[in-house]
Amino acid sequence: MFSILHNINYSSEEIANIFDNQYFNTKRRKKSDLLDNDTVLVRQELKQSSEKVEMYKTLLHSMRNVAKKNYTVKETKEHRRPRIQYCGYKPHGNDNNPIKLCSSEKGNLFFSGLANCGGYWRCPVCALKIANNKQELLSALITSHQKEGKTIGFLTLTVRHSAKDPLIKTLDKLLSNFKAFQNTRWYQDNKKEIELFGMVKTLEITYSFLNGWHPHLHVLFFYDNSKGASSIEFQKRFISRWSKFRDNNGLVSAQNQKILTTDISDYLAKYDITHEMTKGNIKGSKGLTPFTCLAKIALGDYEDYQQKRLLYWVYATYVEYTQGRHYVNISRSLLKKYAEQIEEFNKTDQEIVDETNIDEILLKISLPVWRKIALNDLQPLVLNKYKENGLNSVYNLLTYFNDFKDLQIEIDKHNIPLLI
Ligand SMILES: [Zn+2]
Repeated sequence: MFSILHNINYSSEEIANIFDNQYFNTKRRKKSDLLDNDTVLVRQELKQSSEKVEMYKTLLHSMRNVAKKNYTVKETKEHRRPRIQYCGYKPHGNDNNPIKLCSSEKGNLFFSGLANCGGYWRCPVCALKIANNKQELLSALITSHQKEGKTIGFLTLTVRHSAKDPLIKTLDKLLSNFKAFQNTRWYQDNKKEIELFGMVKTLEITYSFLNGWHPHLHVLFFYDNSKGASSIEFQKRFISRWSKFRDNNGLVSAQNQKILTTDISDYLAKYDITHEMTKGNIKGSKGLTPFTCLAKIALGDYEDYQQKRLLYWVYATYVEYTQGRHYVNISRSLLKKYAEQIEEFNKTDQEIVDETNIDEILLKISLPVWRKIALNDLQPLVLNKYKENGLNSVYNLLTYFNDFKDLQIEIDKHNIPLLI
């Protein structure tokens, strides 16, 4: 439960300026012609955009570009390219169909026909989609349970760690101790007595230069009754025992427990990874999330090369030790009981990122043209430009660059324009 950008203190205008420079002031991309509206292009688009995610499309794209450079030890050994390198770039599968620029029912623009990596712990673009889905899924679970008048508890669990502890050490301790704790006699007996019906467990990891790696768990307890007072009592004993369990060596005050009220917006905001983007203020005490590191690198928000390397190290370490781990775990009992209520959200990560809700196909892009767009990292700009003034704006954008000087528009048999 983290925010992709919670330490970034930039307004959308500042972000736009940075990316204006990136796209239009580099020597690599020589101007073929003067652009109709030149450097205010991205900034205007950001101001007009009502969707939070749309606003940060360019930033998310650049963050993914930083992330693509990272290989895990296993990938390096096996000379294997990480899937994120294809995400949003390569056509999906082996067909030669053009890439489609589509709109959803809500009016959001996106490309269809591209590979998505589905890496929650790794790719900011896919993580955003997956986190949004989890938010909807959990919202449906919680409200269904609350509609039955039953209690839900919310706990935050940590273990003691020092600044020098490697992530793998603290993470393993947290997860294996939590598993072992659930197998204790005390927990098993009390679970029955208190009618603890099911659980949702979310893993969150932050890093701060002062305190090191801080993995922690957010746990929802779904009780099969409405006895709030006895649930609180149980949760208090739970965190007191947890703090002393095995080598946890935790402080009771570092754990947290409460009963979830019917206003669950605060809880769900933790799953909204755009939440902090729009607040635009620094929450320094909470430390860096790996995606904050990516954002800082993408924005050039570091003092010197050393600091940049440190940010990159935090991200790479996080990726290395989170591969194959679940972000959210939901008990089978809950999935079964509320199967109907959560049906539309209950999907695998890959299903979530591959899902397209196409309302209308607006434009088709032949693969040779697409390759040039991807090579020049123009994907988010093409979407922004289309939103601004349709095909005209896209055509002006592309022909601004030398690579596209032979660009032509055809109308296909479905009356949809095709860029060739
Ligand atoms: Zn991805």
